[in-house]
Amino acid sequence: MSNGRALYAADSAKSQGRRYAEPPATPRSEFQRDRDRIIHSTAFRRLEYKTQVFVNHEGDLFRTRLTHSIEVAQIGRTIARLLALDEDLTETIALAHDLGHTPFGHVGQDVLNECMKPHGGFEHNLQSLRVVDELEQKYAEFEGLNLTFEAREGILKHCSPRNAPLLGDVGRRFIEGRQPSLEAQIANLADEIAYNNHDVDDGLRSGLISLEQLETVPLFRRHLDAVRERYPKLTDRRLIHETVRRMINTLVVDLVQQTQAKLAEHKPGNLDEVRQCPPLAAFSPAMKAEHMELKRFLFQNLYRHYRVVRMSEKAKRLIREMFDAFMANAKLMPPEFQARAEQDPARAVCDYIAGMTDRYAIREYKRIFDIEELA
Ligand code: MG
Repeated sequence: MSNGRALYAADSAKSQGRRYAEPPATPRSEFQRDRDRIIHSTAFRRLEYKTQVFVNHEGDLFRTRLTHSIEVAQIGRTIARLLALDEDLTETIALAHDLGHTPFGHVGQDVLNECMKPHGGFEHNLQSLRVVDELEQKYAEFEGLNLTFEAREGILKHCSPRNAPLLGDVGRRFIEGRQPSLEAQIANLADEIAYNNHDVDDGLRSGLISLEQLETVPLFRRHLDAVRERYPKLTDRRLIHETVRRMINTLVVDLVQQTQAKLAEHKPGNLDEVRQCPPLAAFSPAMKAEHMELKRFLFQNLYRHYRVVRMSEKAKRLIREMFDAFMANAKLMPPEFQARAEQDPARAVCDYIAGMTDRYAIREYKRIFDIEELA
């Protein structure tokens, strides 16, 4: 360890650099500058009106992509600090990881991928990278946010074998079978911890799932019992929150301990050695199994709840119809996207739709198809 940083941590001073050379970020670190650029981006503000399970107008208290990303950053920073990793890089990746998400969560992404099948497809991780590399237009000297290699490597969590060779330095690890930094691995698992737990909370709040149902999930049951034993009179929101916060804590502690054990086993001496190792950030096998069970429960009982399915079907129809309308006539799009459509119509339409928030997509759909609506 040097300066409180582990040898295996990413080091801003040794960054592989930015696509366009810039003067040093001092007094900030390079990774702090990355994080700050994300916070000031337009795509980041759009996360406020993008959702995953519950569409924006369904309620004010459900998570949005923005609050989700902030929760991921909080959990990620906690873990990074405990492992003496670079907290700023972890936070950067956490805040940026969903920037490429379409409106209406996973269904939006699936339907856009179907629409784009003949034109190179759509992958949301790749779109997040596209947002930070190209689509944000703010700086005089370059397209995009010109983030460091380490941030870009972390943002590109998955990538298809077809696209990997097209992406240069950040694509190479998918071809050569290497891992990203531990900061990226941690941000990824913090994402899982955050959404499984907040979906339990949102699911209960919405009434789509019940406490009785959740009691069949061992991870939840164990923590619920502990809270009930300590506070027998506690009910409702407080009971749920006390249970969820304990689940998060258990997952975080387990992840830190298992990762420490893996680090002790493989002993990476620097970031490059981390990249050569098998994935080092992990839950213990028992915790992983329990966590998977919770995930399966949410999939079957929340994401496939008929009311969620109805909303998803509406969202799919809306996106597909807009895609077809813009493809048939690019002049329906704002001028900026018309200009881009001259080069590559499908990609311009896809970028336009992917950038929409839930409520913008709903309004835009009305403006295009509803004759009584102002264009
Ligand atoms: Mg996420």
